[in-house]
Amino acid sequence: MIKNKFKQNSIPWSIEQANKTYGIEHWSNHYFSIDYNGDLIVNNPNTLKASPVSLKTIIDGMRERELEMPVLLRIENILDESIRLLNESFRQVIDKVGYQNRYQGVYPIKVNQQAQIVEEIAQFGAQYQHGFEVGSKAEMIAALSTLETSGSLIICNGYKDQEFIELGLEANKLGYKCFFVIETLTELPIIVERSQSLGIRPHIGVRAKMTTKVSGHWGATSGDRSVFGLSSSQLIYVVDYLKQHQMLDCLELLHCHLGSQIPNIHDIRSGVLEACRYYSDLCKEGAQLDFIDLGGGLAVDYTGRQSANGQSRNYSLNEYCENIVDTIKTTLDQQGLSHPVIVTESGRAVVAYTSVLLFNILDVVHFEPPNMPEPGDNQHQLIKNMREILTYLKPQRIQECFNDVQFYRDEIHELFKRGQIDLRMRSVSETLYFCILHRIKAVLAEMERVPEALEGLTESLADIYYGNFSLFQSLPDSWAIDQLFPIMPVHRLNEAPTRRAILADITCDCDGKIERFVVEGQESRTLPLHEIKPEEDYYLGVFLVGAYQETLGDLHNLFGDTNVVSVRLNAEGGFDFVKEVHGDSIEDVLSYVEYQPYDIKKRFRNKVEAAVREGRISAKERQQMINTFNASMQGYTYYEKPL
Ligand SMILES: *Cc1c(COP(=O)(O)O)cnc(C)c1O
Repeated sequence: MIKNKFKQNSIPWSIEQANKTYGIEHWSNHYFSIDYNGDLIVNNPNTLKASPVSLKTIIDGMRERELEMPVLLRIENILDESIRLLNESFRQVIDKVGYQNRYQGVYPIKVNQQAQIVEEIAQFGAQYQHGFEVGSKAEMIAALSTLETSGSLIICNGYKDQEFIELGLEANKLGYKCFFVIETLTELPIIVERSQSLGIRPHIGVRAKMTTKVSGHWGATSGDRSVFGLSSSQLIYVVDYLKQHQMLDCLELLHCHLGSQIPNIHDIRSGVLEACRYYSDLCKEGAQLDFIDLGGGLAVDYTGRQSANGQSRNYSLNEYCENIVDTIKTTLDQQGLSHPVIVTESGRAVVAYTSVLLFNILDVVHFEPPNMPEPGDNQHQLIKNMREILTYLKPQRIQECFNDVQFYRDEIHELFKRGQIDLRMRSVSETLYFCILHRIKAVLAEMERVPEALEGLTESLADIYYGNFSLFQSLPDSWAIDQLFPIMPVHRLNEAPTRRAILADITCDCDGKIERFVVEGQESRTLPLHEIKPEEDYYLGVFLVGAYQETLGDLHNLFGDTNVVSVRLNAEGGFDFVKEVHGDSIEDVLSYVEYQPYDIKKRFRNKVEAAVREGRISAKERQQMINTFNASMQGYTYYEKPL
């Protein structure tokens, strides 16, 4: 027997209860909360004085602008605040421990490359000289065209060809500080040759291979088998090569990246310690290092559990900064080395909070037959036996009742296969089966402890809520790496959620579903939701989706990009729609897979014209069909509500 987590409690529903159920206070970083009306609200992080804005109000505003669900909502204030917090936290810790240099961050463009995000980071980050980390020529060009301030860093990782290197060298002339981080020895001679022939002094960094093993999903990025970074002998080779070319003074930066989403602060500290060892020994070799770049890894607490488990983190931003600054200071002080500029490449923690995926529920399937079927004449003995179960259903015999109902159901299926029971009879037995399971569930709900074998019963009878979104397009990590995201209704939170459900998307893929949630701080296979009302849309939000989800998504079933809306909360407690991008039309997604919209339309027109010729449809009907077809081509790929 195990403790019954579904035991119904008699505490009346309250906003406090809603907070507890969905854990908002634990994952939302205070950006979101629930107001007394039961609406989910966004708090303006820039001024405490501004009253918050409810997500439902924003959704109503979208509807008026004919921006249909699903919508990816970006809240620009949150992005700004994340950058501010990162920079200010480092600044405070640096002041506190008396660190003799500064922090300078860069945003890794690969985490969310959308122009709206990159431009906002460039603009707001200018006051902190927040720069970019780029891993390709395309990202380099995005960085060069958006970064406003001189003095910001551009850190170039990845494989760099001659063109990439020329772009970087020229960036230095514009006043950026562009670092080539050497990841493989092949790029070294190209950098030396190009900079000499262009007469531009390069800023060079080296990426050291980290042996600190980290826990969490991305652990394999680190350790001896990491595909990234130079081994010790390769590092020495770089030093000697640069020395030979009188360019050792160009080696200014050490780069280390342990991996993304590092849940345990202990791993961060050991990584920094290892980095400091490389740093001080490279200095001993004559390099004049002045920058230590610790890469990404600052985690997001998706589950809100504050644990060292992969989807969470056991530290605060402040602790993260303290561990880094303190470790560097202590280690380098012992060596008598001056303090370098501290660089980090936080991506996930900077952009995750800013985006929310909003969608409406299209349909609900309950596994609950409305009524017990009438005992008809000449019913099969097995069906009679099944019905008998209700006469001995009580807590003491609950396991037996469950076993019996399964047994009779299986027997009936066997007889159906052999033609001894017909479809109508089988349908009666199926209804009866679900009725009995629900009676069993009702008895279980009253029990303190439940037999282990019956623990999954309540969850297996959960509803399926069909959401207007594609998991593959909008939440690829949920499918690919079992990433958990906080999911909850954005309104009606003053009502008790009386249903338990899993979520299915509108692709016709059986993997297009979500059945792992965090409820009351525990992982759960179902999510508490409200009964939907026939005349009212029911909206859910998936939170913390700003990092890594947007361009990893694919066109499964040809569901395209969703509408994207950026809002900015203002000091008066209102908000402005600052940017909007309409999602893909059907024509768009077809052209991505190489259909030519013009040809498609022409072929369709020819087909209906032929039908007119053959007298199967009238010319008027022809036009009607062409109009419908063309309107569909222009339409949204998701479920559209009739206007
Ligand atoms: C992906 C990546 C990052 C970003 O890591 P986060 O954990 O998202 O902050 C930073 N640096 C490098 C080199 C990366 O590859």
